[in-house]
Amino acid sequence: MQQHYDVIIVGGRPAGSSLAARLGQQGVRTLLLERAEFPSLPAASSPIIYSSALKLLDEIGADEKAYARNTPRIHRIFADNSQFQLNIPLPDANGRDYAYAIDRARFDASLWDNACRFPSVDSRLEYSVTDLIWKGERVVGIVGQSQNGAEERITADIVVGADGRFSMVAQKVKATEHDVHTENPTSLYYAYWKNVKPYPEANEPSAVAYEGGYGYGLLVMDSADGTTAVTMEGQADLFAPAPGQTEAFYLEKLAANPKVMARLDGAEMVTDVRGMKRIGNKYRQPGGAGWALVGDAYHQHDPLDGQGIFNALFTAKSLAWAIRYFKRGQMSWEEALEWYDETTRSKTYGMYRQTLMNVKANLYDSNQQLPGWALTGIRWLMEDPTMADLLGKLMTRQIPPEVVTMATPAIAVGALMRAPLREFRKRWLSPWG
Ligand SMILES: Cc1cc2nc3c(=O)[nH]c(=O)nc-3n(C[C@H](O)[C@H](O)[C@H](O)COP(=O)(O)OP(=O)(O)OC[C@H]3O[C@@H](n4cnc5c(N)ncnc54)[C@H](O)[C@@H]3O)c2cc1C
Repeated sequence: MQQHYDVIIVGGRPAGSSLAARLGQQGVRTLLLERAEFPSLPAASSPIIYSSALKLLDEIGADEKAYARNTPRIHRIFADNSQFQLNIPLPDANGRDYAYAIDRARFDASLWDNACRFPSVDSRLEYSVTDLIWKGERVVGIVGQSQNGAEERITADIVVGADGRFSMVAQKVKATEHDVHTENPTSLYYAYWKNVKPYPEANEPSAVAYEGGYGYGLLVMDSADGTTAVTMEGQADLFAPAPGQTEAFYLEKLAANPKVMARLDGAEMVTDVRGMKRIGNKYRQPGGAGWALVGDAYHQHDPLDGQGIFNALFTAKSLAWAIRYFKRGQMSWEEALEWYDETTRSKTYGMYRQTLMNVKANLYDSNQQLPGWALTGIRWLMEDPTMADLLGKLMTRQIPPEVVTMATPAIAVGALMRAPLREFRKRWLSPWG
C-alpha cells in the first residue's frame, strides 16, 4: 500500500465502492477502506432498488448477474389496503421494466469486487479509520488500522467520508447540517422469510404494500434465493420495542393484517429481526478543505420510498465528476464542491420532500376519518391507470415529483370520468370476460 493517494474513501458499500469504481475509470489513485468484511449486511436496510439505480450500476460496469444472482425480477408494485388497490407496472427505463429486492450482503460484496478490479484502486477490508490527519484547517489524510495491525497514517489530496449515516468523517470535520426534518420520525423493522405464499393478485414475484395497524404500514417483497423480505415502518414513538422484545413486537405488529398472515401461514422466519430507530432526514455540508461526504454520510432520506441506494450511487457519480473537474484544473476545490452540492440537490431534493410528505400522509395522517365521498374520490384517482403510470415513472426517477403534483388535478378530472365506467365493467361485465 502506498502512503499517499489522490483520494482516500472511508466506507466501501454503495457510495464508497461506486465512487472508487468511477475514480478507477478515470485512473485516479484511490484507496478504499472498509471496516467490515464482505459479504456482510449493512447496519440496517430493506432491499428494494429500481431501474434508476441499476442504470447507475451499468455505468460503472457492475455485473447484474453477480449482484442480483438468484433474485427474482419484480415487474409490478402493489398496494393492498381498505381504501384502494394499487397496481403499478414498472415502466421500461433504459431497457429494464423491473426492480429487485436484492440480498444486500451479496449486492454490497459485488460492488466492492467491481471497484477492486481497477488498477488505480487499492483496497482494504477489515480496516478501521479512527481519525483524520490535519495540516492547519485542511484534512490531509487518515489514521487507521487493520485488525491486529499497527496504527498507520496515510495521506491524500482528498479524504471522502462514505461511512454512512453515523459518519465518523462528518463528526471529525464538524460538518454542518441543514434541511433536517425531525417532525415525523419513523422506525423500520424487517426479517426474511421462506415459503411465503405468493400475492394472490399477481402470478409473478411482487412487492406489496399493506396497511398495518395505527401508524404503520407493511411491505412484503420477494427477494433472493426464494426468500421474502417482510418489512414494517411506523411512527417512531409507537415503534419502540423494549430491549430484547424486538422479535415479539415485530410478530405482534404483523398479526394486525389478516392478508399478510394468510401469506405467512406455513412460512418460516429465517433471519433475526433487524431495523433502525428514528431514521434521520437531513443533508450535511458536502465537503470542505481536503474532504467531502457522499451517500448517507451526506444525505439521509427516510426509507419509505426505497430511494437510499439510488441516492448513494448518484451522489458518488456527482462527486466523481467534481473530483475530475478539480484534478483537471477546471475548477477550484471550492467550486467543485459547490457544483457537487447543486447537482445532487437538484436530483435529490424534490424526492426528499415527496418522501417526507408520503411519510406524513401514510404513517401520520392515515387514520384521519374522511367522508365517504372523499374516500371514493381517492380510490378512483389512485386506481386510475394514468396515475399508476405516473407513479411508476416517479419511483424509477424518470419524472420528478413536481410533474406528478402538476399532473394530478388533470388526472383527477379524467379519473372521475373513467372510474364509473371501470366500476360498471368490473361489477357487471368481468364474469363474462
Ligand atoms: C431501515 C432502513 C431501510 C432501508 N431500506 C432501503 C431500501 O429498501 N432501498 C434503498 O434504496 N435504500 C434503503 N435504505 C437506505 C440505504 O440502506 C442507504 O441509503 C445506503 O446503504 C447508503 O449507502 P452508503 O454507502 O452511503 O452507506 P452504508 O451502506 O451505511 O455504508 C457505510 C460503510 O462505511 C463503513 N464505515 C463506517 N465507518 C467506518 C470507519 N471508521 N472506517 C472504515 N469503514 C467505516 C461501514 O462499515 C459501512 O460498511 C434503508 C435504510 C434504512 C436505515
